[in-house]
Order: sequence, then structure tokens, then C-alpha cells
Amino acid sequence: MTVSSTAPLNTLSLDKTPDLTAPRLGRLIVFTGPSGVGKGTLLRSLRHRYPMLKLSVSATTRAPRPGEVDGQDYFFVSREAFQEMVARGELLEWAEFAGNLYGTPKAPVLREIEAGHWVILEIELEGARQVRETFPDALQLFVLPPSIEELESRIRLRGKDADDAIERRLQRARVEIDAASEFDEQIVNDDLEVALEHLENAIFKD
Ligand code: ADP
Ligand code: 5GP
Repeated sequence: MTVSSTAPLNTLSLDKTPDLTAPRLGRLIVFTGPSGVGKGTLLRSLRHRYPMLKLSVSATTRAPRPGEVDGQDYFFVSREAFQEMVARGELLEWAEFAGNLYGTPKAPVLREIEAGHWVILEIELEGARQVRETFPDALQLFVLPPSIEELESRIRLRGKDADDAIERRLQRARVEIDAASEFDEQIVNDDLEVALEHLENAIFKD
């Protein structure tokens, strides 16, 4: 099982969400934005409020950051193992980002969608573009920083990337931000609560 959930569906007690326990079609939600913009922070809060939302766990060749747990934050694999997954057609999408490979294991996502669940993919731009081709109905959301300066400050304050990795992430951030208009909605993560509310509205508006 590589799609994680923080609580079973039958523990839900939510006032403003639709009844996601009723039989319904599954849904894929793509969540993209530059590294350090706050995607992980937003998703943690969102899933705390809506535990029925599933988050796909990606495979990566990046080394774990302090505190990251294998199988929970990522599946940390060698480049060889990753390339074998690609060759076997096991990834829904994959891309190279800042010198490392990242990809979404296909089988668990398809299983969850078929079971009627909503699955979030937190992935970078190239992967989002691949998903746009294979799942044109997926909701595509992009998170923007209030400014590049604030983005840099957040990556540095997070304190978990080496200087050269920070530089590569900032260079890539400019390319990603330029592509924000390709997405269904752009969410500016300035005030966290405001961004969270925008995210909730984007996901639950239909
Ligand atoms: P990402 O998952 O996009 O790489 P993170 O969620 O790790 O980004 O956030 C990067 C840093 O920015 C973290 O230290 C986080 O606490 C901080 N952060 C996230 N959202 C905000 C916000 N709205 N205002 C200020 N700091 C934020
Ligand atoms: P980080 O190293 O900061 O955890 O992630 C770097 C970038 O890779 C982020 O933009 C993140 O969204 C993206 N990413 C994480 N998992 C995947 C994945 O499975 N596929 C793709 N394409 N990007 C991913």
C-alpha cells in the first residue's frame, strides 16, 4: 500500500465537506509549486482537516532529509532500482528534479481511484504535464510564493537542503512559476490560513 491516509473513512465527522463516504467516483488532484513554497505544510493541514484525502507516496533517488521516513515521506531508492521501475512501466509519471529522480507508483493510485477515493499527487512541473496527458480530468493546482525572495528565505529557514541544492531549486523555481498559468488554479501561499481556504475551495467547489 503506497497511498497513505491518516484515518479511516468511517471516523469522519466534518461539517463543511461533501459526504465523501457515499459511493462516488475517485478523483486525481495534482499539487505543484516550487520547492519550499509550502506544499507539504499546506497538505499536512488539509489532510488534518480532511483525513479521507489520500496522498500518493513517491519514489525518489534523493537522500532522505533529517526526519524523513522511508515509505512515509518517500520510497528512497537507488538510481538503478528507479530505472527498473521505469522500464517495468510501474510509474504513472516521473521526472528529474535538481539532480534526482522522482516518480509516482502507478498501481496504488489506480487502486485508490477505482475504490472511489480522492488522491493527491504532490509533484513537480514535468510530472504534472505528463499527468495532464494521461488524466485530463485531474484537477491541477499550482502554489505560488508571495515573492522569489520569500521563497528563498523559506528554503533557507527550512534548513534541510545544502547550498548547491538550494541554488538548483531556486533556478528551477523561476521556470515552474512561469508555467503557473497552465494550471486550473493558482494559490498564493502568503498567509497560510488564506491559502488553505483557497485550496479547500478549489478542491471541494464542485
Ligand atoms: P515544500 O513542500 O513546497 O517544499 P514546505 O512545506 O517544506 O515546502 O515549506 C517550506 C518552509 O516554509 C517550511 O519551513 C514551512 O514551515 C514554511 N512555510 C510554509 N508555508 C508558509 C507560510 N504561509 N508562511 C511562512 N512560512 C511558510
Ligand atoms: P523535494 O526534494 O523537495 O522533496 O521535492 C522536490 C520536487 O520534486 C518537489 O517539487 C516535489 O513536488 C517533486 N516531487 C515529489 N515527488 C514527485 C513525483 O513522484 N514525481 C514528480 N514528477 N515530482 C515529484
